[in-house]
This record gives sequence, structure tokens and C-alpha cells, in this order.
Amino acid sequence: MTKRGYYEILGVEKNASKSEIKKAYRKLALKFHPDKNPDKSAEEKFKEISEAYAVLYDDEKRNLYDQYGHAGIDQRFSSEDIFRGADFSDIFRGMGFEFNINDIFEQIFGHGTGFGRRFPGRTRGSDLRYDIEISLEDAYRGLETTIRVPRTEPCDNCNGSGAKPGTSPKRCPNCNGTGQMRQSRRTAFGMFTQVTTCNKCRGQGTFIEERCPECNGKGLLQKTRSIELKIPSGVDDGSQLRLAGEGEAGTGGIGDLYIVIHVKKHPKFNRRELDLHMIKEITFPEASIGTKTEVITLDGSIERLKIPEGTQNGEIFKIRGRGMSSLHGRGQGDLYVEIQVKTPKKLTRKARKLLEELNDELKD
Ligand SMILES: [Zn+2]
Ligand SMILES: [Zn+2]
Repeated sequence: MTKRGYYEILGVEKNASKSEIKKAYRKLALKFHPDKNPDKSAEEKFKEISEAYAVLYDDEKRNLYDQYGHAGIDQRFSSEDIFRGADFSDIFRGMGFEFNINDIFEQIFGHGTGFGRRFPGRTRGSDLRYDIEISLEDAYRGLETTIRVPRTEPCDNCNGSGAKPGTSPKRCPNCNGTGQMRQSRRTAFGMFTQVTTCNKCRGQGTFIEERCPECNGKGLLQKTRSIELKIPSGVDDGSQLRLAGEGEAGTGGIGDLYIVIHVKKHPKFNRRELDLHMIKEITFPEASIGTKTEVITLDGSIERLKIPEGTQNGEIFKIRGRGMSSLHGRGQGDLYVEIQVKTPKKLTRKARKLLEELNDELKD
């Protein structure tokens, strides 16, 4: 299969400016980011557009690509080197999520953007889940709050190394610090290499002579941490936020924290996607001869609503744009007001008389 051109992938012209390239990538990244798009092919697509962006946004790499095409890049850079130096952080800022870009690429490519190697004996900390209940008003406005999350963190005393301060972990001489043992055998069919985990350091690549007394050589401690949480406006019941690198720490990296949002049922407003529904009671005379009434919307503002003559019970009026706003501010729902005509349960003598007269009148 031939590799598609980078300009084509991002859908930009050959002479596109850096800001056009960034804009195009951002738009596509929003669509294909694995956190947003669970489709398996989206991950491939995200990889493809990220590579195109990493090359075209870098003057040197773009020059090479313009002159020699893919060969100019592939022969010169490893896939890690293609991404090294590319700044993705401001691309993902403001998407309602905090991203640790190294983490995303680790998840997708199986390696980070070139920082940190994989050791068989080091494991990434697990992901954590935190459930939070918010009101519909909070979902409408967005919410900044502080949550307290118990988790494993790197030990401050030894900076996570596990070695007594003043000392440092020693490189394992057995595996030369790789955590792996390679044994090669030459056979009639060629060279076979078997890779096993080093048993001296149990795959860590290092060993500790003097342990940190604080964490007993683990390099990790249990702590409860306050985390500032920014819930974007427009979240729905069941929405998830991923806070990369805020999960449990492990010897091979930090997991992610997933915030699961539950939106409480509102006594007055029912949410259906982006729209809100509410009930407005009016009297029978108001429904019959028409009236001007007011409804209080979710954000507390007052909207005027004209009830025309002859309005029936259950009739629905739409107030445009007063529903929920979507995540990232694209689109706004409407407010639907369902009319309920109140029948009085207790009548004064005068009211009864008037209604009797009205009844006679209507019969004729
Ligand atoms: Zn320690
Ligand atoms: Zn070793």
C-alpha cells in the first residue's frame, strides 16, 4: 500500500502556512482522537494525521519532505524521531480535557514520544475512576471544583527511585540495565534470539543497595491528593473526562484518572440531548383568550412567552437557543415549554356562577 501524502492527509495546500496546518490538524484531531472516537480505525487515522502534522509543522522535516517525499523522512527519522520536538500541547488545550501528550502516544504507538524506555519488570500504574454527581445547572454552566483522590504517588523522599537519599539505584550488571537477557543461537535456519526477563533485577534494569526508609525501597507511597477539576459546560449524564497522568503511579509510569459524571435529575427541567423540556401551568381562561406569560429558564433568566388564543392542554412552544450548549460550544439546544391547563379544585361562589354562565354560553 502506498503511503498517502502528508498535505493530502491534512487536507491543506502545498504552500499552507503553519497556522493553517495547525488548524487543519486540530480539527481532524478532535474528530479522530481515540478518547472521542471509539472506532478502531480512528486510532489509525489519528496516528496518520499526527505524523503528517509532526512533519509539516517542523521546518526542517517539511523541507526534507518537500524535496524527497516520504523517503526523505523515513530514511532519516525513526518513528520516535518524527514526533520528537513536535509541540502538541497547545493543540489539545481547551478541548475540555487535559492531555498528557506523551501518554496519548504511548497508548497509541506502544511507546512515548521518545522519553522513557520500556522495562519488562516495570509496570504502569493503574487507571483510577472517580464518580462525581453534579446538578443540571452545573452541567449547563460548567464547574470548577476540587476533588480528593487517594492514590499511589512517587515517594518524595527518594524521588521515586526507592534508593536511600544520597545513593542511587545501580545499573544491573547482569542485563546491562536493559532488564532483558538476550540469548542468540545460530541454527541452520538462521539466527534465533530469545529474550527473557533478567532474574537478577527482575526486569527493572536497576537494583537498590540501600533502600529509602520512607517507602521501603518501593519508590511509591499512598497519598490523598487534591485535584482541581474543570468540568466543561455541556457535559451529559455518563460523560467521562480523562485526566492523563493523574492515576496511580507505578514503576513504569502513571495511570490515568477517569472522571465519570452523573447529572442529578432536575425537579423542573428534563434534558433530551441538547434540548430542555419544562411544564408551564396556565388557567383555562388564559388558554382560551390567550395571554402573555413568563418562564424562568435553566440559567435563571426570564423569557417572555406568548400564549395564543385557543391554546390546548399539552401544546408545546419552543424557545429557541435556551437549551443546553454542546460540549466545546458547537450548537445549542432549545427549550420546549409544554402547556398544562389547570383546572381549579376549589371554587368561590362567584367563580362557580361565572363558570355556569360560561358553560351555558358555550353550549349554545
Ligand atoms: Zn522513597
Ligand atoms: Zn538485570
